[in-house]
Formats: sequence, structure tokens, C-alpha cells
Amino acid sequence: MSSFQARYFECVVSVFFLLLVRSAYPWGGEHNVISKVAIGTLAPEDREYIRSESVAIEENYCEFPDKNWPCFGEWGNGTGDPKGARMPDFRRLWGVSYYCQWDPVIKKGTAYNHKPPQSWQAVEVHFRNAVDAFSKGKKEDGCRYMGVMLHYLQDSGAFPHMQPLHRSCHVKNLKAIHLESYSPVILGETPDEACKTLGERVRQLTAWTERRFSPLFDSAGLKFEDAKRIAEKELMPSAVMDVVDRLKKEKFDEFESGTTDCANECVRACADAIYTILSFAKKPYVESSPVEVGKNIVFNPSFEKTEGDGMPEGWCVGWLDLADMKGRAEWYRAGTHWEKHVKTGQCSTMILWAPSKGLEWQQAWPKAIKVNPGEKYQGSVWVKASGKPQGNWITLEFSDMNYKPVYTAKSKPCSIESKWQQLSVEVAVPAESRWMRVLLHGESEDGAAWFDDVDVVRLP
Ligand SMILES: [Zn+2]
Repeated sequence: MSSFQARYFECVVSVFFLLLVRSAYPWGGEHNVISKVAIGTLAPEDREYIRSESVAIEENYCEFPDKNWPCFGEWGNGTGDPKGARMPDFRRLWGVSYYCQWDPVIKKGTAYNHKPPQSWQAVEVHFRNAVDAFSKGKKEDGCRYMGVMLHYLQDSGAFPHMQPLHRSCHVKNLKAIHLESYSPVILGETPDEACKTLGERVRQLTAWTERRFSPLFDSAGLKFEDAKRIAEKELMPSAVMDVVDRLKKEKFDEFESGTTDCANECVRACADAIYTILSFAKKPYVESSPVEVGKNIVFNPSFEKTEGDGMPEGWCVGWLDLADMKGRAEWYRAGTHWEKHVKTGQCSTMILWAPSKGLEWQQAWPKAIKVNPGEKYQGSVWVKASGKPQGNWITLEFSDMNYKPVYTAKSKPCSIESKWQQLSVEVAVPAESRWMRVLLHGESEDGAAWFDDVDVVRLP
């Protein structure tokens, strides 16, 4: 296999595995718990500083590198299985490739392997990105980069040299990941110094986990160093997998206590990294000023901009029925035909044969609008529909600080066929809301709809 094929194979295998084990061993489980426990070690003022993003870091951002695959949004459960459902497009929804600084579709940026030595490097790169964002007062960006850094730090601390072990080392009892008391330490007075110390810290962490596990391997008749060497050459070598399986069966308690110890050691390193990042944050945190009245605040509202991946920048497709095989959502680009389905410019978004549960063009989270309860907004879009026009409308979705929707306001549906019609909705931001997103909704099974020129303004 070429190195590209090998890497692709590794991606496919790991995504497949991720889906397989989700129910029994939540793959993200340790990432989530280690991040949460690490945040829990912070002093109250630091916890308060990132309070609005804590749940998102724990449940979401620390998994970004595992969700940066091109198969998100594609059919077949990530494996190309014709019977498997579609993967939700988590990658575009969260701008995962942007925060990981690697776009696997257009091959832009740098891809880091989830194991040393590359994972060590990735920790340093994303530590710097997080420090940079926080020092400029960009809290959300800082937290997202921090999530990416945490992921690589965690992947460096759980038998990273060996996939057969790495993938078997899910702590069964996630409650055992906790620290009685730990005061995180500052890794350096300047970003440079801190980054260097963190680099050493993560290498020590990897060595620590290997030392913790070698006696177990020795007892099973395979030297840890030999296992490492075998695992370097092959992704899931049976010689190592057999030993791991045997250990888990015959010495379950010792195995489990090893994985738990490593997870807890990893918590300490994560806590130090987070504490240090926050020491460089701009304080006190100043919320961005409220949205200006009367100005369109939608990014790429006419869908003209792209990053070259065949999609309009800042938008993604929301597949509300992942099992639907017919519906299509495409970035429409006018050609030489007389009839062009655009209101202005050259591009619009199209929804075709949408299932009854709906198919949407949605604003990606990094382009969501920060709002305050009580403010009033008007959202509108031009739509041209054929078939069943009534299945199309614009929704303003409001979510709380954990990015969970609390309220949606819908316009009246489209009512005429084959002509551009402007749909609009007015709403006062409900309590608990922190974010607003535009959703362009279609649910017209035999129809087509083109959306263009989205406009969202704050009303006086
Ligand atoms: Zn990973």
C-alpha cells in the first residue's frame, strides 16, 4: 500500500471501529471524561472564565481530531456500507477542519497522526493556537483549539505507539477517572517557555504509560519493546492483539487498573496545559459588543464564497433523516443556460427531493451569531421552488451556551411555484439564548428549491 493508501485505510478502520464500539465502549468516553476532570481541577475563577464553553470542550471539542474525516456527511456509515445510514456532517457543522488546521478534502494544512512523535508535535501546535486566540480575547476559538490540543495530549497518553493496546484500553469504569486533589502547575512564564515544557511533559507522559504497562506485557511473555516494534509495522498485528486479549481475560483487574492509572496521569498533564493556556488569556473577559442594528450579519449570505471544496463557505447540510436515500442538497452554480436559479450573483443553495423529516442548509457553528435575550431580529431569504413549494421555509434557531437549541422561529412556508419569493420571520430572542443560526428548510419530496440572499438584521 502507498503511504496515502495506508493512511486512508487507517482512517477507515478507525472510523469503523469508532462506530462499532460506540455503544459498548464509548470511544470518545475517555476523551470526554479526562477533559472534564482536568477542567474540574481549575481554580473557581478559571472555571468561571470558560464556563460558557466548558460543556462544549468536554463533550465536543476534545473529539475534533477524531471527527475530521471526509466521510462525514457521506452515505454508508463512514465505511461505504450501502446499508449503513449517512454520517451527519459534524466536520463542516463545527468547522472541525479549520480548528484542526487540516482539511482532508482539499488537502490543505498539516495532518498529524494520533500517535507520537506527530501527536507530540500536534500538542505544541494547538497549544500555541489556543494561547494566541485566548490572548486576543477570542474565547470560543481558544476553547476549540484547546479541545484539539487535549485530544492529541490524550492520544499521547494512552499507549499511542500501539493501536492494539490503544484501542483496548478503554477504561470500563469511567468514574474511576478522577483526582482526589490536584493543583495544576504553570508550565512557563512565556508562551515559548510553556510550549517547550509542555512538549517535554507530553513525552514524559508517553514514557510513563509505557512503563506502567510493560510488566503486564512481560508477564504475558511478550516484551513491551518487541510489541512496540511489531505494532510499528502493522496496524493491528495479531501477535500483539492476542496478548492484549489474553491479558484482558486473565488479568482483568490489573489491566483495568493500568488503564485507569494512565488516564489519571493524563488528566494531570491536561490540567497543567489548560491552566497554563488560561494564564495567557486576556482578563477580564469582555463579551463582544451587541449586534449593530439594521446590518445584515450573515456570513456568505448569497453563497458566492467557497474554499474550493465544492461547498459554500460557512454553510453545511443538515440531514434530518439520515436513512433517506433520495434527497440532495447541492451548491448550485449557474451555467450557460438561459434560466439561472440565482437571485443575485452566480450561486445559490439547492434542495432536491427532500424527505418528509426535512433536509436543510444550515449555518456552521463558527459562523453562528452571538445574541442577547430580548434583542429583536428579522431573518429573510429568497426562495424559488417547484413541485410542492409549501415544504420550504427559513428558521432562526436559538441555542443556549451549551449549543443546545432552546427555541426555533419559522417563517411562513413558500406559497408560489417557480417564482422568487421572499420569506421572512421576526422574533425576540428568548431567555437562555446565546447563539442564533439560520436554517434553510426543505421537506418537499418531489420538489426542488433554490435559496439565495439570506438577510438577518437586528431590529431597533
Ligand atoms: Zn484520536
